[in-house]
Amino acid sequence: MAKILMKTPIVEMDGDEMTRIVWKLIKDILILPYVDLKSDYYDLGLVNRDKTNDEITVQAANATKKYGVAVKCATITPNAQRMTEYNLKEMWKSPNGTIRAILDGTVFRAPVLVDGIAPYIPTWEKPIVIARHAYGDIYKAVDGVAGKGKAELVFTDEKGEKTTLPVFDFKDNGVVLAMHNTDKSIASFARSCFNYALEVKLPLWFSTKDTISKKYDGRFKAIFEKIYNEEYKDKFEKAGIEYLYTLIDDAVARIIRSRGGIVWACKNYDGDVMSDMIATAFGSLAMMTSVLVSPDGIYEFEAAHGTVTRHYYKYLKGEETSTNPVATIFAWTGALKKRGDLDDLPDLVDFADRLEKATLRTIEEGEMTGDLVGLFKKDGITPQKLSTEDFLKAIAKRL
Ligand code: NAP
Ligand code: MG
Repeated sequence: MAKILMKTPIVEMDGDEMTRIVWKLIKDILILPYVDLKSDYYDLGLVNRDKTNDEITVQAANATKKYGVAVKCATITPNAQRMTEYNLKEMWKSPNGTIRAILDGTVFRAPVLVDGIAPYIPTWEKPIVIARHAYGDIYKAVDGVAGKGKAELVFTDEKGEKTTLPVFDFKDNGVVLAMHNTDKSIASFARSCFNYALEVKLPLWFSTKDTISKKYDGRFKAIFEKIYNEEYKDKFEKAGIEYLYTLIDDAVARIIRSRGGIVWACKNYDGDVMSDMIATAFGSLAMMTSVLVSPDGIYEFEAAHGTVTRHYYKYLKGEETSTNPVATIFAWTGALKKRGDLDDLPDLVDFADRLEKATLRTIEEGEMTGDLVGLFKKDGITPQKLSTEDFLKAIAKRL
């Protein structure tokens, strides 16, 4: 069989630990034999980030801006323990944070549904996609401890004019926090969500707590509403999908009662928490995909999980691992499909579709990694636990 040709390279960001091992296996077993892969490769493994003073992460993000489609392996975000483990020059920032800051996007997280792995909520028939605003709020906040005294928030405008907001009169010890967001970031979050909902043809729900946070969350609500009415209302009506704004607590209740098939736009913190809940409720963190979509239509695909450290230490000791590669495979297929769409390469899109189908069928026919075995229930099939590599080979057989 002739290999499928590509036109434009995909930006490929390699990563760390077990996912780095899985990354190479996926390429060797499932992609390179079939696709004449054009990739612009960046090694974002922690060793190379340290060696390049993290310049490599910035280069990868800029290449993504240039080419429009990237696929990323999970990477270590260093902490104190990693400083000693890798003998780092500096506690480098989260690569995802750096990339998001450069691309200014929204992160969409969607579970991969498989027949045989039932969600904990039996009525969820279709995926629930979390759209997480990836800028600001408590992730860019300043906080501190206060003693007896007065906490105030001071805003100094361009001309030096000061406005002071009283925060609290402390009679005793306590804590304070100040956070921010920008109209520009909220607007691009809104546009990314509206575009994504139109692309996948699913209704969009957006929730905040504007009854309590009248100015802060109120601003999010107002910006979404304005952009919807001015730019998207007609398109939504034509596509037959709705836009619903509701309070976060009401959204939670509605989501639980829903049948799924919704894009749920969440503020940064809500999205952080809710995406873990949704992933777990659908079965496994290893089955959750993640894509960063920038307002100007740049896509970066990855798995939602981390580098699966515990499995890596087993691997280093020469023990057999059973690490689930599904989310990473779907990151690759997402990127290949997007590239195929943009470059008008139906064969590439078709290949990505087949790879997804072969992956799902392998699990549906009872062959899977250890994390799924306990969740799998299907009449007449006893689930079989395969090693990481054997599972990939079982997919290749069906592909
Ligand atoms: P993690 O790598 O997602 O792993 C947490 C646990 O979830 C694993 O120990 C494993 O459970 C299970 N798990 C996750 N993915 C799995 C898979 N594909 N197959 C089977 N089991 C899977 O999270 P973490 O341990 O909190 O973080 C490890 C490193 O990843 C950290 O250095 C962190 O900075 C980094 N991280 C990176 C990203 C990213 O690049 N997007 C995201 C999150 C974390 P068992 O051990 O019980 O089998
Ligand atoms: Mg989280």
